[in-house]
Amino acid sequence: MNLLFLGTSAGVPTKTRNVTGIALRESKGKGWYLVDCGEGTQHQVLHTKLSFHSLKAIFITHVHGDHCYGLPGILASAAMGGRKAPLTIVAPAGIKTWLEATCEVTQLCLPFALEFIASDDLPSVEFENIAVETFSLSHRVASYAYTFTERKIDAALDMEKLAQKGIPRGPLWGQLKQGVDIEFAGEPLRSQDYLIFKNTPRKVVIAGDNDQPDLLSEACAEAQVLVHEATYTEEMAEKAGDVGHSYAKLVAAFAESIKLPSLVLTHFSPRYQFSSHASPSIEDIRKEAEGAYSGSLFLARDFGEYTLEKTGYFSEVVGE
Ligand SMILES: [Zn+2]
Ligand SMILES: [Zn+2]
Repeated sequence: MNLLFLGTSAGVPTKTRNVTGIALRESKGKGWYLVDCGEGTQHQVLHTKLSFHSLKAIFITHVHGDHCYGLPGILASAAMGGRKAPLTIVAPAGIKTWLEATCEVTQLCLPFALEFIASDDLPSVEFENIAVETFSLSHRVASYAYTFTERKIDAALDMEKLAQKGIPRGPLWGQLKQGVDIEFAGEPLRSQDYLIFKNTPRKVVIAGDNDQPDLLSEACAEAQVLVHEATYTEEMAEKAGDVGHSYAKLVAAFAESIKLPSLVLTHFSPRYQFSSHASPSIEDIRKEAEGAYSGSLFLARDFGEYTLEKTGYFSEVVGE
């Protein structure tokens, strides 16, 4: 699995950072998923190797413009690029109303079907290689986190259990190895019970804007990576008197409390600059988070790319 950040700024873009958009790529196949789609996301996509033909689904965390204003443009461009395959959009119900109104007023007739799934119902959605679950967060409007778990992982047959049950070598073994549940001697058998997994499935949690990271405890179970906003440092959050967002220490302390292996912070207030000589600097956010978290910490930048290996090892992809 691979994460590519298309925008890391909160609220408004800066000269070097666009508003929120994250591409999650499958480890098997060419499919990818877009989480949030701030204005200009399609321009960011043009600087990558991603294609709208292989986009499997779009997930919107909440209705604020810096997370969704790029949606009509991306759909229109996908249409002009010849996309015909249906596209799943998991988003708060208001997004469907807004998109339909936009399509009608601007006479945008998409040549592919949109399948809307309301995140308000906390859906579980299964794709060929990835299973997604939805969790509620705390923000000024309804906001959600999505968990992405790989579905097919390498496994070996448990020969001892097969022998115990007396399941003969043949097609049934093949089905169990493929993850297909079977029936044997009139008894339904779950493939999972006859497989030995070499690794735990890869799981990435991508959260929308949220001022209570603790809400993610269940979502983060067995996850190797959490992507969460850290709009400010604690001091700046107090000064800004902002309601609905997190600061570095708050997220970092949560990640530490659940022993999360890797944490990626993003959605930095536009006042933070990259240069460590600037003030305030994104380094201030890093330092504050480092003080509260002992796992692998990353501060996302636009076009920053990260890979999660089968073993659960998460790291930044350097250069190309
Ligand atoms: Zn935001
Ligand atoms: Zn927001």
